[in-house]
Amino acid sequence: MSGSKTGLERLREKIREWSEEIGPITPRMERDPGALEEFCDAAVFRYQAQLAIPPEYRVSDDTGMAPVPGEGMTVQRVVMAEEISAVDPAIVLAAPGPSLSGGAIEAMADPDQKKWFYSRLQERPTWTFFGLTEPKHGSDAMGLETTLTPSGDGHLELSGTKRYVGNAARADVGVVFARTRPGPLGVMAVMVDTADPGFKATPLPTLGMRGNQICAIEMDRVRIPPENVLGRHLPASRRGIWGALQSLSAFRPGMAGMAVGIARAAHDYLLRHRGELAAGGMERVREIGRRIEAGRALTLHAARAADARSESAGYLASAAKYRTSRLAEDVTREAIALLGPGARLDHPDLDRYARDARAVEFMEGTRNVHRLNLFQGIVQRKLSG
Ligand SMILES: Cc1cc2nc3c(=O)[nH]c(=O)nc-3n(C[C@H](O)[C@H](O)[C@H](O)COP(=O)(O)OP(=O)(O)OC[C@H]3O[C@@H](n4cnc5c(N)ncnc54)[C@H](O)[C@@H]3O)c2cc1C
Repeated sequence: MSGSKTGLERLREKIREWSEEIGPITPRMERDPGALEEFCDAAVFRYQAQLAIPPEYRVSDDTGMAPVPGEGMTVQRVVMAEEISAVDPAIVLAAPGPSLSGGAIEAMADPDQKKWFYSRLQERPTWTFFGLTEPKHGSDAMGLETTLTPSGDGHLELSGTKRYVGNAARADVGVVFARTRPGPLGVMAVMVDTADPGFKATPLPTLGMRGNQICAIEMDRVRIPPENVLGRHLPASRRGIWGALQSLSAFRPGMAGMAVGIARAAHDYLLRHRGELAAGGMERVREIGRRIEAGRALTLHAARAADARSESAGYLASAAKYRTSRLAEDVTREAIALLGPGARLDHPDLDRYARDARAVEFMEGTRNVHRLNLFQGIVQRKLSG
């Protein structure tokens, strides 16, 4: 039988097996995100970090999982994100490794900067962060107010406030977006060492994705050496906000994969509790199963477009993120309704799925923002396939 499995199916099975190994950590991580640190050498984390580090910068490939022939990295990331999220989506976000900042590094770092960044991540399990959102600037990231100013001795100084930044309090290094002058081309990205004086990250209390430990960051004249400025070798239009968008777009299909994973976790939960469902419940569960299949197919389609660098890729990723974040919210809410009054108290796992689903709506662009992007793709006739 196993001889007839595709490479992607084998990858799915392996990640499912690895994810289940760390499943028991989930209830503890809800109370204490630091609990994850005991497991950070688990195979699923090593694989996730490995997939995010380009082969030429990897010290070793130690998980024994070769790339799937005929499939690109985005497709593999989507499968990984779905499988881990069916256990706990916070684990995808809370894992040590390049995270979203790796996307910024890929888009804007020169070879020396890449070498420095990736080598730091491989000395030991190391967290990173991606600092874009500010208290008054979420969806309108271009309005960001954090400043990057010359210090007079060839260095720069970073000052400002960021919000909702995952893993910042446990990260060693990250990428921060800041303004050197007014206007969209005045934004630059810099690599920041969190041990430097003037940098402070504080975890925020949250309802969902608690393991991700989203943080507030205060920066007061953090010194940035000139070699930590990303995109210095690139034209002005290829730095700053452009790099942030590249990074977010590259990870968006993975975010849709996470949403599919959450919906699947709720669906599987209903199947395991079929005896407790309200009348007509199984018909609803079958319909949910069909919607999940459709969401997964759209997500894989968007991932393959991203791997093929298709002109439609960004719009399809928006469509997938839009559709699946809604799917995760609808399915988790419906699952709670099908289990009747008190379900959130009696079924804490289901309660967690619903809280996590709400968080997916905000990460990497809200549904309204993706609806606007999709609309642009349609009117400009850039959405094919
Ligand atoms: C779990 C989690 C992890 C995160 N991790 C990070 C991270 O690592 N780094 C980071 O920088 N940020 C991170 N974020 C922040 C995230 O990127 C922002 O929450 C997101 O950009 C939305 O910004 P906001 O929360 O300020 O909401 P707002 O932008 O204020 O949006 C509020 C509402 O207004 C709507 N809206 C906004 N603009 C428009 C418009 N033009 N047209 C129509 N409707 C609009 C939105 O759809 C939404 O419903 C994270 C968030 C979460 C929940």
